[in-house]
Amino acid sequence: MAKADLMDRVVNLCKRRGLVFPSSEIYGGFRSTWDYGPLGVLLKRNVKDAWWRSMVQLRDDVVGLDAAILMAPRVWEASGHLATFSDPLVDCRNCKERFRADHLPESGACPNCGAKDSFTEARQFHLMFKTHVGPVEDEAAVAYLRPETAQGIFVNFLNAQTTTRKKPPFGIAQIGKAFRNEITPGNFIFRTREFEQMELEYFVPPEDGGQWFEYWCQQRLDWYVDLGIPSDRLQLRPHDPDELSHYSAATADVEFDYPWGWGELEGIANRADFDLKQHAEYSGQDLTYFDQEADRRYIPHVIEPSAGADRATLAFLLAAYAEEEVRGERRTVLRLHPRLAPYQVAVLPLSKKDTLTPLAQEVLALLQPRWMCEYDETQSIGRRYRRQDEIGTPYAVTVDFDSIEDGAVTVRDRDSMEQDRVPIDGLVAYLDERLP
Ligand code: ATP
Repeated sequence: MAKADLMDRVVNLCKRRGLVFPSSEIYGGFRSTWDYGPLGVLLKRNVKDAWWRSMVQLRDDVVGLDAAILMAPRVWEASGHLATFSDPLVDCRNCKERFRADHLPESGACPNCGAKDSFTEARQFHLMFKTHVGPVEDEAAVAYLRPETAQGIFVNFLNAQTTTRKKPPFGIAQIGKAFRNEITPGNFIFRTREFEQMELEYFVPPEDGGQWFEYWCQQRLDWYVDLGIPSDRLQLRPHDPDELSHYSAATADVEFDYPWGWGELEGIANRADFDLKQHAEYSGQDLTYFDQEADRRYIPHVIEPSAGADRATLAFLLAAYAEEEVRGERRTVLRLHPRLAPYQVAVLPLSKKDTLTPLAQEVLALLQPRWMCEYDETQSIGRRYRRQDEIGTPYAVTVDFDSIEDGAVTVRDRDSMEQDRVPIDGLVAYLDERLP
């Protein structure tokens, strides 16, 4: 399938099947904002849960956090965001559209109207959303919506470290909304002004920064592969020295092969001691760590794998989408990893007849506590299978008239389309073996 088609078809599927809708759609939409629908909320939640599981649950060196979106404005002075968090903006004199100067095509032509050499000089455009806290809209009430979740972690370094008694190397993980007034949002949920980040700040002794940076680059790359993205559609791209942010000793991006080319999925940065040093200075608090065994005090260095939940969701969708011809029929299938699929199991009574409903409901009740299930009794069974393929449901359980006699159901596998007859009392064990 042509790459441009792939994007269109995924966006179309998202709309048609309730994964992602244009926000405020009945009012004509609102500037590249998107709402996750009944299926999209499940998929995105599964992406975040898979991240949390890998970064927090399966490790004993990482703890979690959920910090406020509104933070003391001094935080953004200390972090450098107030001074430097901007992108170069140019206007096209011909069509008046605005663009990020560093995202313009090499041809120099305006991406909107095609005019040549029509751009104004670049000027810096600040990306933080400003608001006022409380009833008075004066300078003293100014606050910002956080442009990254990371700072909530740094300002809680002491709280988290002392209450959990963790010693470096250890990390604090957080998932939450971030806001950036992007000049040119676009490519569906790839770049939006409101998005969700999944960030880890991993605190290490200063001399170990390089080694942990390598470790996290590999871990993060593996995470996407383990969840089903083919490794040839991922790459780790180290930043050139002139590309590095003001805080970073080394950065590498995990990039995905999006339909428009390689693009950032996640950034992994060695931030050295920049953040804790800045916050110590601006807050006047001692943010050093005392290593009793070695009898020394130091500011931990920080390795930060920073991923976007929306970009990851898009990448998983793009990698999973396939159209194929099976036994003379076309089907669309989302080969999502079972952990990510909105529903793990569909329960499908063969017909809507009253005789089947009670047993089908019993099967549903048996599975619901363990997996996200969809119950569907409309249309022919063939069409219902295809509906489930299209949204990536790994297993469909069909309750038919024989089920009432033999106490067994038919389980269909999304990928192989093979069917097994399974006794209802062995169904949970059967699915348990196949679903992570
Ligand atoms: P880009 O160069 O694409 O603007 P960035 O380098 O500014 O991204 P980071 O500051 O490293 O991004 O943010 C970490 C992650 O947060 C990104 O890898 C991405 O997954 C996500 N992210 C950042 N900005 C956006 C956005 N506007 N929309 C959706 N996700 C975003």
